[in-house]
Amino acid sequence: MMASSAGDRLLAYRARWVIPVALPPLAGGCVAMRGARIEYVGISVPDGAELVDLGDVALLPGLVNPHTHLEFSDLACPLGRAGMSFTAWIALVTASRGNAEQPRPAPAESIALGLAESRAAGVTTVGDIATAGWQLSHADAAATDVTAFAEVITLSALRFAEALDRVRRNMDDAAAIGMWRGAICPHAPYTVHPELFAKLVNLGTERGVAVAFHLAESADELEMMRDNAGPLIDYLTSRGFWIPGSIPCGTRPLDYLRVLARAPRSLVIHGNLLDDEEIAFVAAQRERMSVVYCPRTHAYFDHPPHPLPKLLAAGARVALGTDGRVSNPDLNLLAEASYVDCEFQSIAPADVLAMITLRAAEALGLAAEVGSLEPGKRADLAVLALPTGRSESADPYEAILGSDCPVVRTMHAGAWV
Ligand SMILES: [Zn+2]
Repeated sequence: MMASSAGDRLLAYRARWVIPVALPPLAGGCVAMRGARIEYVGISVPDGAELVDLGDVALLPGLVNPHTHLEFSDLACPLGRAGMSFTAWIALVTASRGNAEQPRPAPAESIALGLAESRAAGVTTVGDIATAGWQLSHADAAATDVTAFAEVITLSALRFAEALDRVRRNMDDAAAIGMWRGAICPHAPYTVHPELFAKLVNLGTERGVAVAFHLAESADELEMMRDNAGPLIDYLTSRGFWIPGSIPCGTRPLDYLRVLARAPRSLVIHGNLLDDEEIAFVAAQRERMSVVYCPRTHAYFDHPPHPLPKLLAAGARVALGTDGRVSNPDLNLLAEASYVDCEFQSIAPADVLAMITLRAAEALGLAAEVGSLEPGKRADLAVLALPTGRSESADPYEAILGSDCPVVRTMHAGAWV
């Protein structure tokens, strides 16, 4: 008789709290999995399962970070200083690429660091902006589900064909490898010509992939669109990147949202300065469009308060992202949720936790696969140590979001990583 392999054994993990996300928390709950799939979530132990008691921990679905820039994961701290001007920061980011005086590791190395840091933080699914192109060689990729958004930056019509070709190639490479998911990211209004933006959205539709776009992030960006003036135009002009007339005066984020809404799935990154009409538009597109709020990056630039409560009240789908280490101290997604839980007391903790799990999975179009603990979904877990000495009845959300619970183990597709 052959010994049963891990693949066909039913393994049941018991914990002080199981947080399925799609259902209320289960005290003393149990998650059972066979191979890479969840088979059972409940209180009892299913027949024939091998029980593993994990003790004083909370079991959450593997966390989903829908927006980061892993290529900056080698940075020890964000560039510049807190409260600095957005345009001055953009200049620092541009200068950090290919700076001979302060050489940085190859993108593949930084991405591997970022993936390892993400896994240690309980993150099993990532939406990464791939500026330097696809970095498919690294074995680490197998331990994390990565949607790689091929980023495009160009205002020049002379480079449209080249940019579209590169994105098509990236998409084909991703399909050939079958490991990372391809997607598209026209960077932002100040770096992508509106005609190219529309072509990239159309390409997303043609390929059936998600399109992410940084939008309504800073006052400098809105001034650039509205008046073709201000610090961003001055900076782009000084670098020879600005093409006069490329963006009509009077352009609003809403003009881009209307085009973006054609994509089968779209992510509005930041949305810090969306107005009421734009919030209503995003909410009306809820099935296909999400806003990704990056809380600690938002705080780094001292922007006006994020319209998160208004977005939620309007019915928009909002997820939280870490953004990259170029504007955030780390890739700890749970810290973003704790920050929001603390800053927005009117939002229920369960809803905050959904923004780093199920809402984020929906934003990436992966909700059938990840984002909650449900039979049939992939066996991805984040295991958090709970503070000891608390009663069983203590609110698990309060413990998770309010008391700095460390992630002690992470499971991806049924394997501890
Ligand atoms: Zn970003």
